[in-house]
Amino acid sequence: MTDTLIKVNLNESPYTNEMIHNRWHPDIPMACWVKPGDDFILETYDWTGGFIKNNDSAEDVRDIDLSIVHFLSGPVGVHGAEPGDLLVVDLLDIGAKSDSLWGFNGFFSKQNGGGFLTDHFPHAQKSIWDIQGMFTKSRHVPGVNYAGLIHPGLIGCLPSHELLDQWNSREQALIDTNPTRVPPLANPPFPSTAHMGKLKGDAKEKAALTGARTVPPREHGGNCDIKDLSRGSKIYFPVYVKGGGLSVGDLHFSQGDGEITFCGAIEMAGWVHMKVEVIKGGMAKYGIKNPIFKPSPITPHYNDYLIFEGISVDEAGKQYYLDVNVAYQQACLNAIEYLTKFGYSRSQAYSILGTAPVQGHISGVVDIPNSCATLWLPTQIFEFDIRPSASGPTSFIEGGPTMPIAYDKV
Ligand code: ZN
Repeated sequence: MTDTLIKVNLNESPYTNEMIHNRWHPDIPMACWVKPGDDFILETYDWTGGFIKNNDSAEDVRDIDLSIVHFLSGPVGVHGAEPGDLLVVDLLDIGAKSDSLWGFNGFFSKQNGGGFLTDHFPHAQKSIWDIQGMFTKSRHVPGVNYAGLIHPGLIGCLPSHELLDQWNSREQALIDTNPTRVPPLANPPFPSTAHMGKLKGDAKEKAALTGARTVPPREHGGNCDIKDLSRGSKIYFPVYVKGGGLSVGDLHFSQGDGEITFCGAIEMAGWVHMKVEVIKGGMAKYGIKNPIFKPSPITPHYNDYLIFEGISVDEAGKQYYLDVNVAYQQACLNAIEYLTKFGYSRSQAYSILGTAPVQGHISGVVDIPNSCATLWLPTQIFEFDIRPSASGPTSFIEGGPTMPIAYDKV
């Protein structure tokens, strides 16, 4: 039987578990050690450590202190791994915990986190998704039902001191360009809610002062939120510290490209069965700075799409120069507008784009002044026909369930 090296109790705070951490720092001690060739299971909290509940209120999404995230399981030390090596990680399987067969999708208030389309969706909202084997559906978003593309939103190795210093100084320089922006440009270290695993006392207090927040993806991987890095993938991670220090968390049952709702995806607690190997000196041998990976041989078989185009001209008509972010926002807004014609609220449509296996493509980046991004909406996830036709759209949804919303406290 495969050993479960890290266990989590969803009824207990992640702060009580020494094999969990929520910052990146090379001084965090290994939670456990394995050998190259070993396979093992790590259980994980959802990224908020259980703060978001399976109910019909969005007050938890509104009220969460985002400095507590993400709760990660690890770091796992691999004997023989040294800086400059590649850590090869096979994601043999991933699943939801059997006592927690549900996940959540949320939009953060613009005052507390925001998101990709925060100007259009400035209030906290939430949808709950039930997990039935490999499928999911939501009591808050009717008319869709689809297979999961289960993946860790966040996985990577500990940074070295030198790399950590680079992260902190470059991100602080960005923050300094507009320190009062809401939402902020980046999140600096924040010691008071840091959980540094087994590190305790003065050493913990000192490391927490510089422990990097887990929000952005960085050279080590981290919070990449790549839907195709799913169970069955093989990943090659740069190693920066002795033992590597592999951590994982923020499991998603499914997600669209871009994780556009920010508390995007269908966020869940679960487990990851993985295997590790080491390629000595692999970073230099293959010229690898950021992780690379091979995708899974298994993906949901949705092969029919409605594809929405967007260009780098915003909804006010302002022209941008080859701005892919603006173009993808426009593609998403176009898809949302389209789905409202079938009776969805704008929030429900946004939630579908965040959670379903929607593809996002950078389609053109050379035709000045407009970049072109496309959003690929799988038609087979809908329980009715969403293609345009001469008879016009028929609403199956109107008068149905709505998504919980929580307005900011004044
Ligand atoms: Zn996530």
